[in-house]
Amino acid sequence: MIDARTEIVLLGTKGGPRVGGARKNPATLLKINGVPYVIDCGYGVSDQLLKAGVPLQTLRYIFLTHMHSDHNLEYGPLIYNAWASGLKQRVDAYGPSTLERQTGAFFESMRFDIDIRIGDEGRPDLRRLLATHEFDADGLVMENADVRVSAARVRHPPIKDAFAFRFDCADRSVVISGDTNYSPELIELAQGADVLLHEVLHLGGLETLLKRTNNAATLREHIVASHTTTEDVGRVAAAARVKKLVLHHFVPGDDPSISDQMWTEDVRKHYRGEIVVGRDLMVL
Ligand SMILES: [Zn+2]
Ligand SMILES: [Zn+2]
Repeated sequence: MIDARTEIVLLGTKGGPRVGGARKNPATLLKINGVPYVIDCGYGVSDQLLKAGVPLQTLRYIFLTHMHSDHNLEYGPLIYNAWASGLKQRVDAYGPSTLERQTGAFFESMRFDIDIRIGDEGRPDLRRLLATHEFDADGLVMENADVRVSAARVRHPPIKDAFAFRFDCADRSVVISGDTNYSPELIELAQGADVLLHEVLHLGGLETLLKRTNNAATLREHIVASHTTTEDVGRVAAAARVKKLVLHHFVPGDDPSISDQMWTEDVRKHYRGEIVVGRDLMVL
């Protein structure tokens, strides 16, 4: 039986490229009429999809918000893993500039293996199953009978091509912030959405994180300029009048001393709706 409801599954909720800890790197799954749409491919996304009960060979759509490695490191390997699991149908991947180059470079790096398995194991040519679609502007990214996906450029310096996505489905509208500082463009995209998944930065936790690094000053500057503080997340959710706010892409994402209450207290100063502190494999 096809599940007509749009289901959100948080696959990985830790911001940043470091691996380890209780949360996996960023990735989100939308299941729309039973079809999986994967948004961002942080390291570990294939495993997390399996844990969420999604057979990899059913992979159909991939969307990348931007080209930081915590969002694309397992993009190529996910497609490969789907193929190794028996992928037969086309996969469409949507992302900003360099998506095609990264795709080609990944296939080239695996050429020996892919060529061998086509002949030796009778598999279809993986390179022909994947269609890439680069976009570089706000507006409609793709549309089919089940969903309309639009994008808005957000503020994630020094990366220019960083986008948020809005998925308008028959039963729900879901917005994913991507990585961004406070962004009026995101507020506009998210107007009235049923669910806003927003990245979040905890300033107190950041200071603890920086004590562990040796390039603290530069890193602090980058993180504060390119991510959204708890208080600003509240401002965005309130201004966009979303019905539900889900926090994910936590920075820092591996500090257990930051409680759920600490993540939400400054958000609540501005936003009075429902707030969910996301966890890996949470279904919404
Ligand atoms: Zn990120
Ligand atoms: Zn980023």
